[in-house]
Amino acid sequence: MKLYCTQRGRDVEVIVNDEMTLYVCGVTPYDSAHTGHLAMAAVYDVIARRLRARGARVRVVRNITDVDDPLLPRAEQLNIPYWDLVEAEIAQWMADTRRLGLACDVEPRASEHIDGMITAIEEMAAAGLTYEMDGTVYFRVSRDRAYGGLSHYDEAQMVAAARERGGDPDRSGKEAPLDFVLWQPSRPGEPEYASPFGRGRPGWHIGCSVMSRRHCGPRVDIHGGGADLVFPHHECEAAQDRGMDGSRVGIWFHSALLDYRGEKMSKSRGNIVLARDLLDKHDPMVVRLAALGSYSPRRGGEWRDGHVDEAAERLDRWRRAARAESGPAPERFEEAFFARLDDNVELPDAIGVADELAGDILAGRGSDARGPVALRSFLKVLGLDGATEDRGR
Ligand SMILES: [Zn+2]
Repeated sequence: MKLYCTQRGRDVEVIVNDEMTLYVCGVTPYDSAHTGHLAMAAVYDVIARRLRARGARVRVVRNITDVDDPLLPRAEQLNIPYWDLVEAEIAQWMADTRRLGLACDVEPRASEHIDGMITAIEEMAAAGLTYEMDGTVYFRVSRDRAYGGLSHYDEAQMVAAARERGGDPDRSGKEAPLDFVLWQPSRPGEPEYASPFGRGRPGWHIGCSVMSRRHCGPRVDIHGGGADLVFPHHECEAAQDRGMDGSRVGIWFHSALLDYRGEKMSKSRGNIVLARDLLDKHDPMVVRLAALGSYSPRRGGEWRDGHVDEAAERLDRWRRAARAESGPAPERFEEAFFARLDDNVELPDAIGVADELAGDILAGRGSDARGPVALRSFLKVLGLDGATEDRGR
């Protein structure tokens, strides 16, 4: 299997070891579980299934950033306390992902790793990598020569992206515009914790460095997340990892965002399709197939409202074909299907191959009993072999 590594700027062969770790930046629980989130989570789930099928024991860690900037404004908008919003959104996310078979081994929450974050900041402070300004602790980017090497952005691009995505490059008094927050005072209504740097809360990025070190150990084989996380989130995470003796990442694999009605699907644009609305009406496996089929992690994709009906028809065909007794010789299909999947998880192409095989089986072509067996193996690696109803974890 090869995946495009953002840091190296090229496809990298995934070396399949006995024990592997996959860390995926999950959701901030305020607009959780729209189909864009699900398509992305499904991609990493398929990667894990594919590696497992090849003999690896894969530990999947998918975090939840439950201490973060966008949460308070959302809670205020809904006129509910911060933690009520967070708990409700997390419960919904867990229910949706469980029904869709998007399993992971650990789902750590930032709020449960505050002590680890404080220790990590102290480690970086001892190494001279931090400074403090009015209760905010910053990471001193000038001390990290590799900074910028993940995104390959130049200085101006980094400043612009930081401004757009939650950074504070324009705050006066900082040593340098790109220095980023490790710890900061909380706003009224936000969670607040005691620390050696004063009461407050962690910055956005430090949580992932601490959770990956804690739950994956020294090596993360594949680090995933949406393409919008490359900068600043993952650039800063990588800098922290170097500064605190954190995990080392083998491949940074980013998945494109899903479009809807001509734009990236996002809460702020108001163009989202919630998983819960689809799951109320459809077989979860149909919803999963609709998400997978609409989406290539490298090329992106667009959600269309007709996707679910198309997926329902397709899955019905696949299930009938998988129950058949014979079909064509499977070698050609297996080779094509796994070649597509193993090349940056080209889901629409792989699904096209499965369609072809199912079509041949249903048309009565061939008398090879291995034909339907191959189709069942495709369903399994795509995670579509679940029952039609909630199958638990
Ligand atoms: Zn993260």
